[in-house]
Amino acid sequence: MSRLPVSQAEVSVRAPTGVEDLLLLEAVRTSTELALALVARLVDVLARAPDAWDALPVPDLEALLLLLRRTVLGDRIRAETVCIMPTCGARIDVDFSINAYLAHHMPRTPRNVALDGSGEDVPAWYRLLGTQARFRLPVVADRLAVAYSANPVRDLARRCIQPANLAAVARRRAIQAMAALAPSLSHELDGRCPECGTALEFYLDVQEFTLRELRDQARYLLDDVHLIARTYHWTEGEILALPRARRMRYAERIRQELGQET
Ligand SMILES: [Zn+2]
Repeated sequence: MSRLPVSQAEVSVRAPTGVEDLLLLEAVRTSTELALALVARLVDVLARAPDAWDALPVPDLEALLLLLRRTVLGDRIRAETVCIMPTCGARIDVDFSINAYLAHHMPRTPRNVALDGSGEDVPAWYRLLGTQARFRLPVVADRLAVAYSANPVRDLARRCIQPANLAAVARRRAIQAMAALAPSLSHELDGRCPECGTALEFYLDVQEFTLRELRDQARYLLDDVHLIARTYHWTEGEILALPRARRMRYAERIRQELGQET
């Protein structure tokens, strides 16, 4: 069981079968819609369920994707980047633990923030004390609604911050409070090149990164289905329903036997 950072929903995450691998493989791009489709199939909510998956605060969907990634590939994330200094160009490993990353991004409630009204409203609205500002935390549906906007930051603020004519200072403080209550899991990671010492920034987009990794893991799905169907004469549906790890073990056995015959 895991607890999502912002909504505090208690969830358990299942490993994908071939059906989810097929979703990943056939998706045109690594979108929020794809993330929601995977989560709807693979996550069970044990307590504090959201009204709908797109009613989750944005960092909670990112946390779910990291938990799904942990289920499939383990806690350790390893990525690679290249030093930006043209004279250096060293390859640099970015390496961190999902558990530690989530623990490092726990929300906190700033002192100048209070729940507006009874606190029973869904979604909850907050007040920024000493100002006119009211705000709520952006959810996945907000992100989808502004996805094709020319100015998504402005449009997100219009949806989530009131009144519309709020002074710029109060608006900035409201945005800071929102970031403390629901810290984004996607941002720049700071580091330093071990070869030349140049300061580096590596932008981690959790949705993009985890979906790409999971899709990469699914790339042999059709080969596996083909081999297993040809050998055992099971249907496509039966093979897709196998947990990914079991499907891969069957396919591996068949490959070994075929290798021995030739
Ligand atoms: Zn360097």
